[in-house]
Amino acid sequence: MLFVTLSHMIDGDSPVHVALKKPEIVQNSSVSSGDGYNSYMVTLENHSGTHVDAPGHFLEDGRIISDYSPLELFFIHPLILDVPKNRNELIELKDVIDKDFNGLDCIFFRTGFESFRESEREKYLTENPGISPDVVLWIRESFSDIRCIGIDSVSMSGYKYPELGEKAHLNAFEEHENIGEPLLFIEDMKLNNIENDDLGMVLIVPWQLKGVDSAPCTVLAIKS
Ligand SMILES: [Zn+2]
Repeated sequence: MLFVTLSHMIDGDSPVHVALKKPEIVQNSSVSSGDGYNSYMVTLENHSGTHVDAPGHFLEDGRIISDYSPLELFFIHPLILDVPKNRNELIELKDVIDKDFNGLDCIFFRTGFESFRESEREKYLTENPGISPDVVLWIRESFSDIRCIGIDSVSMSGYKYPELGEKAHLNAFEEHENIGEPLLFIEDMKLNNIENDDLGMVLIVPWQLKGVDSAPCTVLAIKS
């Protein structure tokens, strides 16, 4: 069995959405200065780094991530779908309408924008591709087994299209009759150089924080 990590490590220099405070990791005690042990203060917003958004992110009474059981965060039919996107482009219906997602429970959209995460920070954070609200609704209407979608850019909301980004989140999170359960979103994923053959199963492990809408997470793929 082989494990592959689909999430980024967080450090004080991790890129985060421009609306958020930068993460801070500060040494609090240190062996070298005679404290006898090492410890750190870690301060960050819950949408920093690779993180999972639950409905409570946008909805007053939406489920929050700590309400989810491990089984709801475990996927046995995941797929990475390549949808190459340039700056300020959205994943549109035309990119997916001819795809058959039957049998899948989770899709990670690989736009390729992750390649700018380190090298071109400004571009990564302010020109990121996102997803069209129509695509989110189409997935929920057509493939009710899909419970989660992810992206290798800083947000599902394209920075240049905040209204469409908000609508995309609402289309994922609102409860509607006749369509599947709300979707989870994973943002800022690490998908470069991952093969679909590496994805036997996928487990999202959010930080176990009570009372917050969403959380940083480790995403593990288990190749069986
Ligand atoms: Zn988020």
